[in-house]
Amino acid sequence: MNAPDPNISANRAPIRQLDDAAANRIAAGEVVERPASAVKELVENAIDANATRIEVAYADGGKTLLRVTDDGFGIPEDQLHLALSRHATSKIDGSDLLNIHTFGFRGEALPSLGAVGRLTITSRAEGSDGAATISVNGGALDALKPAALSRGTVVELRDLFHATPARLKFLRTDRSESGAIIDVIKRLAMAEPLIGFTLRDVTGGGEGRVVFQVAPQTGDLFDALHARLAKILGADFAANALRIDAEREGLAITGFASLPTYSRGSAAAQYMFVNGRPVRDKVFFGAIRGAYSDFLHRDRHPALALFLECDPTLVDVNVHPAKSEVRFRDPGIARGLIVTALRHALADAGHRASTTVADATLGAFRPETAPAGAIYQMDRQSQPRYSAAPQAGFAETQPSYSARVEVVETPVVADQPLGAARAQVHENYVIAQTPDGIVIVDQHAAHERLVYERLKRQMAENGVAAQALLIPEIVELAADDHGRVLSAGDELAGFGLVIEDFGGTAVCVRETPALLGEVNAAALVNDIADELADLNQTQSVKDKLEAILSRVACHGSIRSGRVMRAEEMNALLREMEATPHSGQCNHGRPTYVELKLHDIEKLFGRR
Ligand code: ADP
Ligand code: MG
Repeated sequence: MNAPDPNISANRAPIRQLDDAAANRIAAGEVVERPASAVKELVENAIDANATRIEVAYADGGKTLLRVTDDGFGIPEDQLHLALSRHATSKIDGSDLLNIHTFGFRGEALPSLGAVGRLTITSRAEGSDGAATISVNGGALDALKPAALSRGTVVELRDLFHATPARLKFLRTDRSESGAIIDVIKRLAMAEPLIGFTLRDVTGGGEGRVVFQVAPQTGDLFDALHARLAKILGADFAANALRIDAEREGLAITGFASLPTYSRGSAAAQYMFVNGRPVRDKVFFGAIRGAYSDFLHRDRHPALALFLECDPTLVDVNVHPAKSEVRFRDPGIARGLIVTALRHALADAGHRASTTVADATLGAFRPETAPAGAIYQMDRQSQPRYSAAPQAGFAETQPSYSARVEVVETPVVADQPLGAARAQVHENYVIAQTPDGIVIVDQHAAHERLVYERLKRQMAENGVAAQALLIPEIVELAADDHGRVLSAGDELAGFGLVIEDFGGTAVCVRETPALLGEVNAAALVNDIADELADLNQTQSVKDKLEAILSRVACHGSIRSGRVMRAEEMNALLREMEATPHSGQCNHGRPTYVELKLHDIEKLFGRR
């Protein structure tokens, strides 16, 4: 019998060295997923070349043509071929992979793009008296030719993935690929406010259509950034954004973050950057959620653009080929810094609430000037379910009274920001007169926030004061709620809610928070059980406490439908002024809106 030939087997092929073209195609699979990722690489190269203006043109969603033109320092003629070879870069010398200040450094983008499309680079290096061009097609390099170009670099990529039809199949519609390109350009334009960007759709040839354009911003970096964000995220965002600027242990965070009242239904308007590089990072998302947890319902999200800068050695940007994920050496410090910076900015905002709601309402009267950006929709979806159902413990007036207006005669309180209460309408809205306008307060939302802030204050001092029930209340719970509530018993006692096991799946409520007055113990305990079930395990104890306190606060607030006396209304206004974070309720809706006389006059065509 012959010995088996080791090179012939039904299962196994021999090991071979791949040629460069194949290696580049494989690398391209990691770096270039779709036209937008090619755009990102090419624009980052232009930024690294100190460009001040960058123009991107695309056709058919970038599938047939991508062209990036910059006015940067260019590539010397004798190095053009090197730019196209694998692992060739001018950005590092390979000795210190952690100390990286530029976007690029892997030296992979251009050769990868050359492997999966028809790539042409034309460039004129600074100080050189002519330009040159070189092409690569399916990995094969053409000869260098002289070209005409006054400065900078033009990189053109045609027929992306023509050499790898399998990848072509994974591309989406032109519309969706264009959308991804626009998104990439917007992110980079936020990170680089001093650079001008133009994006053109040149499908069908010619000059095409300008899809997005921003001029280079001037002024100090914060002003430039604010102006740039106004262009990209909208004037509404800019008007309702808080400036973020903090530093700790070698990490600095800057940017703008929205007031909680300017919130969105998804985290799509959250833009994050590390050392100028757009990232989507868990550490950020978690920190943002934590910082706003006290102001926003879990399904509302702030809009923001945050820039973290640190010594390049504190963050590894090399973990992901497309470089959208990063690894912090100490994620705790990064998270702590982001949370603290956001919380401080929010606390400094005091009772300031979004101007946008009033603007949007005015806009509804004047459709032609309605703000274009997505704004807080006054939807009621994020309201906790029990708000819809009147609760025991309050004398609920019936809706038939809703046309009644309580008119109050009070002197104008000239210098109080929230003015003097003038009337209560529809049994839920307090109308106050300020020196230059009117304020409309949602009494239920405002009171809920005040109760919450009082609870937090008591909590921080000696714990929430409890009040014993004359007759302890027995509450039946679902089996898993029963366990959950009992195991949180110690924490709940800290909130003034004292419960004991009553056997089976029942608990006995002995004491409730004194601040709440008379409450429906069953509703309260059931809500807390829901809250405990909703909270995920990774949330910190502090976040949990706040979420639960916020739930508790709902039970102590003045329901809509309660008629208030003048003194009560004015006391509410004064307490709002004195209480931090009182401009928004616990779900991120505004607690009041202000209409300036000026705006009212506009409504009547007087201006
Ligand atoms: P990397 O950016 O990781 O260095 P690339 O393959 O993207 O790798 O680019 C290779 C090299 O080509 C860069 O290091 C740079 O020297 C040069 N280069 C690429 N694009 C430009 C540009 N627009 N202007 C000037 N130089 C460029
Ligand atoms: Mg690069």
